[in-house]
Amino acid sequence: MRCYCCSSKPFDECCEPFIKGDKHPSSAEQLMRSRFSAYATAHYQYILETYTKEKQQGLSVEDLAQSAQGATWFALKVHPTLAASSVDSLVGNSISSTEDSSIDSTVHADAKVEAQTNAEAISKPNLKSISKPISKPNNAIVEFTAYYFENKSMYQLHETSNFSVEDGKWRYHDGVLHDDCGKIKYGRNLPCVCGSNKKFKQCCATKSR
Ligand SMILES: [Zn+2]
Ligand SMILES: [Zn+2]
Repeated sequence: MRCYCCSSKPFDECCEPFIKGDKHPSSAEQLMRSRFSAYATAHYQYILETYTKEKQQGLSVEDLAQSAQGATWFALKVHPTLAASSVDSLVGNSISSTEDSSIDSTVHADAKVEAQTNAEAISKPNLKSISKPISKPNNAIVEFTAYYFENKSMYQLHETSNFSVEDGKWRYHDGVLHDDCGKIKYGRNLPCVCGSNKKFKQCCATKSR
């Protein structure tokens, strides 16, 4: 079957090995996808373990299970974000929910990256900097919309999340919810939100309960 996270891969080649602990996600997006799949399959231990240590304090598997009760998570959309985005740029640009301001912040972040690159080129004109190992970023942001049913109604959760690397593994820290979160109406004849190319009524709408 296709993975719960709506990738093009089957579950056992996508999120399942992460949830089982056989593999570790190599990016923040992979971790986010696997956490969605863990919610969809009620693997709350995995949800707990993939929070940053700071956030794990005061959380329990029971709390997580309780807060997810009644929700059927059925589709995920990952929004394109800047690969170089960091927690700093999220804070610095104070991303809000409107499309316009997110475009603004993208332009702003691009300009920042370019400015940094220029500064580096000026301050390090020698070849030594090329042989230096490229340091991997330890923070990343991922913007996504997750869809779920509760009491036969459809909801969306639109969040920009902060992820960090701890002990060499990606962890979820926290996120900013966008203003369009909540109950939504979605046309039954529209293409399904999961990207299956089927009509909604013939696809995920059948999971409503
Ligand atoms: Zn997946
Ligand atoms: Zn669907």
